[in-house]
Amino acid sequence: MRRLSWRAVDRNLKRRGPSARRGVEDCSMTPNRRTLLHAGVGVTATLASATLAAQSPGSRDPRPPKASLAADAESRAAAAQDFGHIMQRQPRAVCKPRSSAEIADILRWAREQGMKVAARGQGHATYGRAMAEDGIVVDLAALASIHRIEPDRVVVDAGATWHAVLEATLAKGLVPPVLTNYLGLSVGGTLTVGGVGGASSRHGLQTDQVLALDIVTGEGVELTCSPTAHTDLFDAVRAGLAQCAIITRATLRLMHAPERVRRYLLSYPDLASLTADQRRALDEARFDQLQGAVVPDGAGGWRYQLEAGVFYDSSAPPADKALLAGLSDKHETVSDLTFGDDANAFARLEKLLRSNGQWFNPHPWLLTYLRGSNALEIASDVIAGLNSDDLGPFGRVTYYPMFTDSCRTPLLRLPDERVVFPFNLIRIPSSADKENADRQVARNRAVYDHIRSAGGVLYPVSALVMSSEDWADHFGPRWPLLREARRRHDPDGILTPGYDLL
Ligand SMILES: Cc1cc2nc3c(=O)[nH]c(=O)nc-3n(C[C@H](O)[C@H](O)[C@H](O)COP(=O)(O)OP(=O)(O)OC[C@H]3O[C@@H](n4cnc5c(N)ncnc54)[C@H](O)[C@@H]3O)c2cc1C
Repeated sequence: MRRLSWRAVDRNLKRRGPSARRGVEDCSMTPNRRTLLHAGVGVTATLASATLAAQSPGSRDPRPPKASLAADAESRAAAAQDFGHIMQRQPRAVCKPRSSAEIADILRWAREQGMKVAARGQGHATYGRAMAEDGIVVDLAALASIHRIEPDRVVVDAGATWHAVLEATLAKGLVPPVLTNYLGLSVGGTLTVGGVGGASSRHGLQTDQVLALDIVTGEGVELTCSPTAHTDLFDAVRAGLAQCAIITRATLRLMHAPERVRRYLLSYPDLASLTADQRRALDEARFDQLQGAVVPDGAGGWRYQLEAGVFYDSSAPPADKALLAGLSDKHETVSDLTFGDDANAFARLEKLLRSNGQWFNPHPWLLTYLRGSNALEIASDVIAGLNSDDLGPFGRVTYYPMFTDSCRTPLLRLPDERVVFPFNLIRIPSSADKENADRQVARNRAVYDHIRSAGGVLYPVSALVMSSEDWADHFGPRWPLLREARRRHDPDGILTPGYDLL
């Protein structure tokens, strides 16, 4: 295999003039890293490709892979941030691949160099999970095509947002059975963690809706996994925190799209009465979507609310009286929208938070699942220790019951009961105070320890420090599945260092 020497690269750059050198001279790096950085200064794209091709062991095509790499300060700074605005880890370069083959080349090259690699979807992680200090961030935002829509499935690139997926499928009268409350997340980003939404009680997580995944393993091998092919990887990649592979494409289940959604908000004086009605509504399957929250009331106290949605076609509107019978008298219909507008409702809050700057403040979120049998007790303990400043004026504690029967993803950890409660501290501080954010991250750890000791489980999109031992404890009996898949498919452990998992 021919290797480009650092001198040859340097000579080439000199010939290209000062602009080609600019991204390099301010960095003290090993020649190999320099080679990559040169690749990223744009003017040297061809050189980058040649370098990568020359250094990619097993590269099938002698021609350069033409990976688009960027090592300019702006690209690296963007990849060193996420929605959490708590962690900052600067990569050496950012790769913006246009194909799975480019990702494979980058991974093989990075492995050879001993560099870490993290995939990035829409960057909505809260604690640096899509970052790679000194490594390469593979930004999938441009790999976002919707390839094919059939009556029961859609084939999409992993960088596509759920918003784009929904828009395309709705045009054909179809929808993914489970959508997250916010659609600005990427398909790859949620399949890596689970993807829970208002319909999870009926359909499980988004990871339960996957029919097949195209992936590139940590060894740079491209393959398709499904319930019948490479099943070990299929199980290790869904909700596997990106430890074995990067997802490049997903085949996802679709169902008939409801026309409209009517939403109700029911209010309660305390958590106990909210919980009782939530359990009743769940057991009687009254609504198509059942959620709820404890929200600051603006006067230092809390509002307790049940939030429910019913799907319907305009020929048969819902019978409000029967739906709400026996539940709280304090109820109102808050919206009645097309399915698409309802699914996009979070965008209004996003717009507001972007305009008042709070979208860009630190977001030390803690997301967990409580056991149904002690959810009221544990949630009450935690809420008693909170004040509304801990959440911010637009923050909330998400709290609602869901059945676990349809949740079948092996690595998605839930308490071992038929009913569990997502219990999430959605902190949206009104200031960018770093010390406050650090305090909340430390507090998250204490709250998590309390929840864990009561049989609760972490939803791993949270902002808190987790050690390798904590992760082993988190995955419990499934830990060997993930550890073994990692050993086989990412033997040098280059993928997704942000979790500190292995
Ligand atoms: C406003 C908001 C609302 C949310 N609502 C919900 C909700 O309703 N339900 C829910 O379940 N979650 C929700 N989340 C959490 C969200 O699902 C996760 O944070 C998700 O990982 C973010 O997706 P992303 O595309 O922004 O991923 P990123 O932040 O870019 O990445 C997150 C992780 O996924 C990995 N990753 C990304 N793409 C790939 C890929 N193609 N292959 C392999 N690994 C990849 C990254 O390396 C990283 O470890 C919400 C988050 C926010 C900020």
